[in-house]
Amino acid sequence: MNIILLGPPGAGKGTQARRLVEERGMVQLSTGDMLREAKDSGTEMGKRVAEVMARGELVTDEIVIGLIREKLEGENGGGFIFDGFPRTLAQADALGSLLAEEGQTLEAVIEMQVDDAALVSRITARSTCGSCGEVYNDVTKPIPADGKCSNCGGTEFKRRADDNEESLRQRLMEYYKKTSPLIGYYYAKGLLKGVDGLGEIDEVAGQIAAIID
Ligand code: AMP
Repeated sequence: MNIILLGPPGAGKGTQARRLVEERGMVQLSTGDMLREAKDSGTEMGKRVAEVMARGELVTDEIVIGLIREKLEGENGGGFIFDGFPRTLAQADALGSLLAEEGQTLEAVIEMQVDDAALVSRITARSTCGSCGEVYNDVTKPIPADGKCSNCGGTEFKRRADDNEESLRQRLMEYYKKTSPLIGYYYAKGLLKGVDGLGEIDEVAGQIAAIID
């Protein structure tokens, strides 16, 4: 089963994708993670996109579609979870073609609905474990007092360069201008399902599980 998690930055796409990987053996395809890896490893492409990402703008369709194309040829375990992709109508069309080429289909597009005020407070309080990527929040899920990740015991935590108010404003603008049209696109294809992304992580996971099952 292949699904898309759709929603603005901070809606909880990454957190829920990680749960689906752990609980169902699905494969998370996060173009944001792929781009950050390219940036950290200093590849030419990584250098080109670093500034665009720091500003909170979208990188080109060509680059992200190329990244996804490579991954679709690999193993998909219990199915792919597209996290942060597609973000434009052109990417959505490309995903449809790529899946068709692989003889695969998209079963659901899960829109995670949250309000902007919640996004700002979630994102500016967010950090992740440098080893396993577990997501923490200064207010709702602080890093354990012993300084060790509750998932893997790692002791290094990172904040994303673009998790500041200015980049977030730009990321939200990009979302409303370029990504939110996908809600109508997938509704018209009969694939759109909405979940209330404002609840506790377990509650949201329950709503997603009900859709998948
Ligand atoms: P994310 O981790 O999904 O919040 O993505 C972080 C940043 O990576 C975004 O603000 C964009 O600059 C870039 N990015 C990630 N996915 C895409 C995509 N599908 N299309 C264009 N840019 C992307």
